[in-house]
Amino acid sequence: MAVLSVVIPAYNEEMNIGNTVRTLKEILEREGIEYELVLISDGSTDRTFAEIMKAASEDPRIRGAEFSRNFGKEAGIFAGLELSTGDAVVVMDCDLQHPPEAIPQMWKLWQEGAQVVEGKKSSRGKESLFHAMFAGLFYKIMSGLIKMDMSSSSDFKLLDRKVVRVLLELPERNTFFRALTFWAGFDTRTVEYEVQERKYGKSKWSFFSLMRYAIANATSFSTLPLQMVTFMGMVSIGFSIILAIQTMVKYLSGTAVEGFTTVILLILIIGGFIMLSLGIIGHYIARVYEEVKGRPKYIINRVTENVRGNVEGAWKREGERKKKYDQF
Ligand code: UDP
Ligand code: MG
Repeated sequence: MAVLSVVIPAYNEEMNIGNTVRTLKEILEREGIEYELVLISDGSTDRTFAEIMKAASEDPRIRGAEFSRNFGKEAGIFAGLELSTGDAVVVMDCDLQHPPEAIPQMWKLWQEGAQVVEGKKSSRGKESLFHAMFAGLFYKIMSGLIKMDMSSSSDFKLLDRKVVRVLLELPERNTFFRALTFWAGFDTRTVEYEVQERKYGKSKWSFFSLMRYAIANATSFSTLPLQMVTFMGMVSIGFSIILAIQTMVKYLSGTAVEGFTTVILLILIIGGFIMLSLGIIGHYIARVYEEVKGRPKYIINRVTENVRGNVEGAWKREGERKKKYDQF
């Protein structure tokens, strides 16, 4: 019988683990879905992993791992995918903002042949106007960059094992899970859901972490900003030609002394363009640098006892990954 894995990244969610596990078990058992739960503690500083171990000791279908430090949600998702063994995998948040009631619907679509089921927000839930505006702008830009509408997409989705394998084979370290499933393609269906309110604890995102996340994701998916640099260069050259002609004409007609305002403006504008361009190029170089270093996406510190295979501590490079994969 087909098995569903539910992957849950959790960072300082001690108050949510027990409740989330209970809710999921209840729903999945009621629907008669064979399942396993994979909980990844993302270097939590509270009792999150202890809670995961407790749940795992009570039920062998619950497994988990703890990172050596906080590596971010993306890393948590990928570690969860790596540890999962099910024929289909659902990724969802630990705070139940992604309603588990939608999972049976996703499962049904999967059984009907869908390979990716995207959770689509029918509303964004309660958030500040500022946050909503920023998120709106970000998704507009992202949708433009990757030429797909992502405005109501989320990390809540079901993936067929085949898609999971594809994602795990990607060599890059800077991933953007939400967009990667669009990029990967496959037979995609959507399920609409209402974003729920977080019950316990609080959101892990600050404005600046969101900003960093947005920039990192936009640049990991597109080189358009780099092309913008070329564009700015062309604009500058265009103006230069016009001004060069004007200057020459003035010089030849003997009225060349004026024009300090122009000089100052030019220096400011061109200086600004150059700095901005360097910044953009620098950002990409930093990305390349990170990728070239080839550091792992995450480091696993501990796993629950029921995790088989050699995952503890080491992360595997491409060749080794396949080997490890066979151990499950
Ligand atoms: N999360 C994580 N690592 C982090 C930040 C968040 O694994 O560094 C997890 C978190 O535990 C939760 C999910 O990602 O399960 C979504 O986080 P949160 O609820 O804080 O974000 P929001 O819902 O406000 O977007
Ligand atoms: Mg949340």
